[in-house]
Amino acid sequence: MRGTHYISADSCCDATRHTRAALPVNGRVWVAQRYAVDWEQTDAGGRIYAGPREKLESYAIFGQPVLAVADALVVSVIDGEPEQTPGNYPTNIALDKADGNSVILDLGSHRYALYAHMQPGSIKVRSGEKVHLGQVIGLVGDTGNSIVPHLHFQVTDGPSSLSSNGLPYEISEFQVAGATAGTKAFDETESNGTPVPVTPVVPPQTVKQAMHWTSWSSASQRTKSL
Ligand SMILES: [Zn+2]
Repeated sequence: MRGTHYISADSCCDATRHTRAALPVNGRVWVAQRYAVDWEQTDAGGRIYAGPREKLESYAIFGQPVLAVADALVVSVIDGEPEQTPGNYPTNIALDKADGNSVILDLGSHRYALYAHMQPGSIKVRSGEKVHLGQVIGLVGDTGNSIVPHLHFQVTDGPSSLSSNGLPYEISEFQVAGATAGTKAFDETESNGTPVPVTPVVPPQTVKQAMHWTSWSSASQRTKSL
């Protein structure tokens, strides 16, 4: 993704939603979401949404372009799943609909990248097509097993979003501008629409070739030492 005010939610430290999501699928237990991130975004005022909570357009991240993380081959595309109503998880959703509108890229060397919950009709690539780094794949939506518009991203060792195991990955470069007060505080702001409390990192810290959570923990240590 491009831009500012992104939050790597449910990805680190006190978050367990992905990290410990051991799922039995076809007789085996998998931890596909082990290193997954739910990318969220606030507006300049620090809010996940402004306006009616149940309206998709109220959310800062809704409609943001989703970009290919590398030159890759498209191995799977799901489209046509409807948007959910923000604020509530859908009930009785089938396992194969959990990702909503989604794309899986083959990065080579048994590495696969999943992008989930995109807008219906927004996916611009087809199975079997080659994509290049930075190419737009689709737009952020709220489809599948999703409570608010966000981008779920993960890298796994197989081409299935559930029956595979999650692998760590590096982001080539990003800036850490602040640290949130943790998953519980974040979830509260996500449900009541108040600004997300953030402890700023001043000046913002440029991080290269790292996983987000290593950087988050060093950012919070740095904040403590200031
Ligand atoms: Zn997720």
